[in-house]
This record gives sequence, structure tokens and C-alpha cells, in this order.
Amino acid sequence: MLRRRANKANGNTNTRERSQVAVWKPSQVISCHTAVAAIKTHRESETPPPTNKQKPRRSLVSQTSEAGSTIRRLFPEMAAPAAAAVVVLFDFDKTIIQWDSDDWVITKLGAADAFNRLRPTMRWNSLMDRMMGELHAQGRSADDIRECLRSAPLDAHVLSAIRTASALGCDLKVVSDANSFFIETVLEHHGVLGCFSEINTNPARVDAQGRLRISPFHDPTSSPHGCSLCPDNMCKGKIIQRIQGTDSAKNKHFIYIGDGKGDYCPSLKLGEGDYVMPKENYPLWSLISSDPQLIKAEVHPWSSGEEFERILLKLVNKLITSHAQGSQLDYKCDMSNPISTEVGHHQTLPIPN
Ligand SMILES: [Mg+2]
Ligand SMILES: [Zn+2]
Repeated sequence: MLRRRANKANGNTNTRERSQVAVWKPSQVISCHTAVAAIKTHRESETPPPTNKQKPRRSLVSQTSEAGSTIRRLFPEMAAPAAAAVVVLFDFDKTIIQWDSDDWVITKLGAADAFNRLRPTMRWNSLMDRMMGELHAQGRSADDIRECLRSAPLDAHVLSAIRTASALGCDLKVVSDANSFFIETVLEHHGVLGCFSEINTNPARVDAQGRLRISPFHDPTSSPHGCSLCPDNMCKGKIIQRIQGTDSAKNKHFIYIGDGKGDYCPSLKLGEGDYVMPKENYPLWSLISSDPQLIKAEVHPWSSGEEFERILLKLVNKLITSHAQGSQLDYKCDMSNPISTEVGHHQTLPIPN
């Protein structure tokens, strides 16, 4: 294991959410598995269920440059589902996958010595680009790196949670300080790349010589993000603020899942009605635990893939159910207004329970 995670989170020494689902009654307390079954039943009577294979192949298309950053919108042609009430933001390393992807590749491909030699002199993001150069010089191809990433362990419960949350209509996004090559390779290998609408991470590409190049999300020289909590190549807080500011995010609840120091800044940006799921006994959990008053979101720690799945789907189910209840109540209020001549009529509206 490489010495570094704290460093990755710290950056440097200076300081680092269709519920067309409405087939079920909002008053029902249902399990997510029941909800998925309901969606399947509903959709089978109308249109085929949206399995990953039926989704248009997600070409990793648009790169939207925002002040030097790169955001990959995987389905730019698809707007978020109109009724989706939940945005789920996932860190990648040690959250979606069990290891850190940088560690995995460098260790498994035998470049740990070069890493340890260069680490004291380089910032993490630049170092990873350099390490890809080292691997290239050692004759390791981009395909070798892909193959290595495909063997990285990923908990079956995490995969199941991602698929179910997606089937329930949540808007899933990745926010990671890894890189697009690593993340896309892993998610595609496990058949869940199509579940995500965005991957916010450091851009990567294979150059003409076949070497993988990794660039910073925020260019520290041309567009410094100015956040003292985050590494200079990426402020996840800025990313979540951009997402919170989009029209598609209005009136939606956020669930943020992560483990590292770099996940603390975005956790501070969450509001009441949002949720943060820190990995227990990891840096994010420690930072939150050190001063819980600073976090407005409800905190739900997890420590295993099984807990990850159970807690995430419980929160998603709760948010979707309450969203459906709200919609039904709004509908009843709208319908009652034209005929509500009796005093107090609207006060007797049955509230689903
Ligand atoms: Mg992480
Ligand atoms: Zn920040």
C-alpha cells in the first residue's frame, strides 16, 4: 500500500440525487426491492424497462470547460428525469471501489518504488500523470492499465445499490479526485457506467504515444479555485455548488457518499434535507465527528458494502416516498380549491399516512 491517501486529500503541504414510479401509493412503506418490482411492472405495461444495455451507449462525450475544469456529461442528450427527487453524489476511491484506484494501478503494475521516490517532491495530481509516464516507459500500455483496473475489487452490494438507485430514478453523479480513464474503465467493466449522468473528475486521455495523460480538474495556475480545504487541482465543494445551482437540481435532495478529507468541503455545502454518508473511521467521518454542528445534512455513517446499500436505499426510499406524498397533497389541494366553499374544507384534506 502506498503512503499517501492523507496526502491525496490534503493536496499539498500547504494545506484539501422519475418517479413515474408513482405506481405505488405514497402512503405505503415499501422496500426498495418492492419499488423496483413496481417500476418494472409499470414500465412493462408501457415501455420496456431501462436496462443498462437498452440505454443508448454512453459515449464519453462532452467535455464542458468551466474555468479550466472538465465535466463529463455522459448522456448530454438526456435530461434528468422530471420527477426525480434525489441526486446521489458518489466519491469513487474507497467508496465505489474498495481500494484507491491510483494505489491499485501503481502497486499492481510494479511502480511503487518510483512513486515513493517522487512523492516528496510532487503534488498528487501531477505525480499521477508522471507515474503514468513511468508505466509507459516500462512498456505498460493503456490496455495494461485497463486490465489492471478491471481486477480492482468492488463490493457486490455497492453495485446493487447503484443499479437500484438508478432504477428508482435517482440522478447519480461521480465526484472524484481520481481520473476519467480509471473511473470509466471500472464502471464500464461492472456494467454501471450507464447509471451515472456525470463524472466530475480529473480529465485523462491517451496521447499519440500511447501514454495516459492526467490533467487537473481545476487548473491551479489559470483558474485557482481558492478553497483552502481542498487540493489545488480539485475542490469538490465548488463542484457540488455548481450542481446545486442547476435548474435540474432545484427542490431536490442530495445524498453525498465519501470517505476522504476531500469529501469534507462538499459535505459542508449540503443543506437541511440533505444527507451525507461518511465511511466510518475514515477521514471524512473523523472530520464530521470533530464538530457535527458544522454539518447541516443528516449524517449516516456506513462501514461495509451491505451497510452502504441498506442505508442508501433506505434514504432514497424515504425521499421518493415523501416526494410522492408531497405531490399527491399538492394535487389534492389544487383540486379542492375551486369547490372549497365550506369553511375549513381544505383543512380536512386527508393527509396520506
Ligand atoms: Mg475516496
Ligand atoms: Zn473546497
